[in-house]
Amino acid sequence: MNIFKSGVFAIALTVTAVSNAMAQSSLPQVAVLATGGTIAGTAAQDTQTTGYKPGVLTADALLKSVPSLDKVAKVSAEQVANVGSDNMDNEILLKLAKRVNELLARDDISGVVITHGTDTLEETAYFLNLVVKSDKPVVITGSMRPATAISADGPSNILQAVTVAADKDARGRGVMIVLNDRIGSARDTTKTDANSVDTFKSLGSGYLGTLVNQVPHFETRIDKKHTVDTPFDVATLSALPKVDILYGYQNDSGYLYDAAVANQAKGIVVAGVGAGSESRFVLPAIKAAMDKGVVVVRSSRTGSGHVPEDEAYLGLLGDNLNPQKARILLMLALTVTQDPAKIQAMFHAY
Ligand code: ASP
Repeated sequence: MNIFKSGVFAIALTVTAVSNAMAQSSLPQVAVLATGGTIAGTAAQDTQTTGYKPGVLTADALLKSVPSLDKVAKVSAEQVANVGSDNMDNEILLKLAKRVNELLARDDISGVVITHGTDTLEETAYFLNLVVKSDKPVVITGSMRPATAISADGPSNILQAVTVAADKDARGRGVMIVLNDRIGSARDTTKTDANSVDTFKSLGSGYLGTLVNQVPHFETRIDKKHTVDTPFDVATLSALPKVDILYGYQNDSGYLYDAAVANQAKGIVVAGVGAGSESRFVLPAIKAAMDKGVVVVRSSRTGSGHVPEDEAYLGLLGDNLNPQKARILLMLALTVTQDPAKIQAMFHAY
């Protein structure tokens, strides 16, 4: 290359670099908080979708796996935890929620994405839906296949989650679960299959929207109150009250209720059969727990549908929350009141 040609080449490179930097600086800023899970998991074989190690890759490594992110947003990465979501606990939940609120309070941050294991992703999502104090988008995502698998779903899910978090139209919709081209509300979306990539479904209410060609299309809003419209304040909390879930089944027995009370449970969610029915074998133990001040909420082990009023059974109504989400709301409700009437109203409102 002669001097003239190399000079023109250098100018062209500089112009491209400057225009890329200008395009980047006008993009919204999205903070990604990584907590672990399969999305950060690795396996020895690319055929493995089980038996891998979750929570291995760092937040930075996750973002590097999606080169086209820099066309969608300016992205920063932080590691809040690096665990399989079966090991997610109240301590991490509170740390994460406090950090999300800190970030969203900043003028330069447009939205937050959380990467998470899929097993309990919906619990963290619903917790954030109740405690985030901003209408800026908060999106939680994960993956069913580890990062090393053929057709790993993590990179596409991260790109979609950041795209939604960077979208102004995503504001005020509550915390969203984004995987596999779908945008679901934290309240209504649940993991329905242990293995399939198409596992997150919004069973009763449909999806908030979808992504086509990585572009979000919003269809609906959730009517239940969330984020800025709840009374829950994590800033003042260093722990959450203990709430257990007890499953209903044939030939059930009451001793697990006694054990929950003996282990300082302040609340119990009954994952009742059908529409939250409780067997005659457990009703005396539920009554004994309630007499000791434990707040009992009925939900359905079917995982969807409403729990109706029924004099034959004991406890507040969990509305149409599945047991794991009813537990999240009951923990938070108990941080502000012990009054069963007020807690019942919360179950219908949120
Ligand atoms: N066991 C994993 C977890 O929840 C599953 C996943 O992320 O898909 O962390």
